[in-house]
Amino acid sequence: MRIGLGGIWQETNTFAPRPTTWEDFHRYQLFEGPELVASLAGTGTELGGAIAAAREHRVQPVGLLFGAALPAGTVRRDAFERMLRTLVERTRAAPALDGLVLSLHGAMVVDGHADPEAEIVAALRAVLGDLPIGVTLDYHANVGPALARSTDVLCGYRSYPHVDMAERGAEALRLVVRMARSGARPDRHLVKLPLLTIPHAQEDAAAPMRQLLAAADALRADADVWAASVLPGFAYAETDRLGFTVYVAAGDRAARRARELAAMVWDRRAEFAAPLVSPDQAALAATAAPYPVVLVDVADNVGGGSPGDGTALLHALAHARATGAVAVLWDPAAVARAHEEGGASLSLPVGGHSDPRMGPPYPAAGPVRRYGPVSYLRTGSYMRGQRVDMGRVAVVEDRIGQIVLTERRVVPFDDDHLAAVGVRPRGARAIVAKGAIAWKAAFDGYAARAVYARTPGYCPASVDQLDYRSRPQPLYPLERDPGWEAKVSAALSPP
Ligand SMILES: [Zn+2]
Repeated sequence: MRIGLGGIWQETNTFAPRPTTWEDFHRYQLFEGPELVASLAGTGTELGGAIAAAREHRVQPVGLLFGAALPAGTVRRDAFERMLRTLVERTRAAPALDGLVLSLHGAMVVDGHADPEAEIVAALRAVLGDLPIGVTLDYHANVGPALARSTDVLCGYRSYPHVDMAERGAEALRLVVRMARSGARPDRHLVKLPLLTIPHAQEDAAAPMRQLLAAADALRADADVWAASVLPGFAYAETDRLGFTVYVAAGDRAARRARELAAMVWDRRAEFAAPLVSPDQAALAATAAPYPVVLVDVADNVGGGSPGDGTALLHALAHARATGAVAVLWDPAAVARAHEEGGASLSLPVGGHSDPRMGPPYPAAGPVRRYGPVSYLRTGSYMRGQRVDMGRVAVVEDRIGQIVLTERRVVPFDDDHLAAVGVRPRGARAIVAKGAIAWKAAFDGYAARAVYARTPGYCPASVDQLDYRSRPQPLYPLERDPGWEAKVSAALSPP
């Protein structure tokens, strides 16, 4: 048996002005044909998990095309169309496939393509007819009925920070093999809730997601249930698919089970809130033990598409006379200057170049270490085994601590990126983490505590700070009391 593997993956922040280009995919992850299987085998990614499961089931994994880019602005049409064309061509040319596993995000937004993930599946469905297609989705997927209808089974992550990608890929492969061998297909039901939630209120270990994920897990424990997901979605991707999704695939009663799970989500809608402090209050927390304290730069969330060069917390740390901090900033121009100028120490303004609203440049000064192009292997729980390229790096020993300047944007989902340039966050007093929850995969094991700061950026902590041009209405909490049941529950007929 042969199962094709592919996908196009990005979390798109439509409020971030910098578009995502083909180069961004090419630079981060873009694999075709046998290279896909060779590169992703053994990694903690969705397709890495699918490859491992394929070998266990004596199934041959056939690499098609997989492209992923770091979260950023809207994907350019030509980038998407170029990858989709290759994916379709390779699927058509592949020798006799028995099914397909795709790794998609679910919150990708592409110029001129209203529902790109649904389009990917539809294009491949046109080649493969009724062969089984399984899709993995990010926890932050904004799923619409078209994707759920054209796919035989959706397997959404059930962790945030995301550490179950390989498990979901393995699950999708197992379900596709089961469908291919038995000819059976589950009934599927999607409920779209008019509910908008922010990332730092979606942690898997905290209420309400902990209880909602447990309820989905309890459903999945039933032998008759093939898949059950509660996906809180991504508020920063403006599409008509915006909002919370509940999905159940089962041999029987999928609709009833999905509606019951959705009712549970709706009952707890007011719990999706989390306390925040000002950057100054956050910096003050970094001047008293226990250490290290994680200062969470919620809005300049690199993994949510913000650039990662906001300086609000650096200025606040300097103002509080804090020392011993570790902070990473994306600043290719400062890195270039540090390399050109030479000298054992330097003083230069860093960060704050993407958007004046994200703080003025911070005046960094002190001894500097320079690194040529740095790449590292992820060894933690997030995408273990994946190689990441940071470009050139300069580390400045500033009065507030170590400021790591990188040529490429780096997500704080591991601490390997710090180890690669001799920075040890365990011994720091404060760690500035440009993310909402995903940093926990890296630092939660040894952080003494975390303080969430109301910083400026493209992932603001409150959805009423977002200027949506068009969005589904109503959406709680923007509209206080929408009803949901009658109009948004969709039964999905077999593809
Ligand atoms: Zn996500």
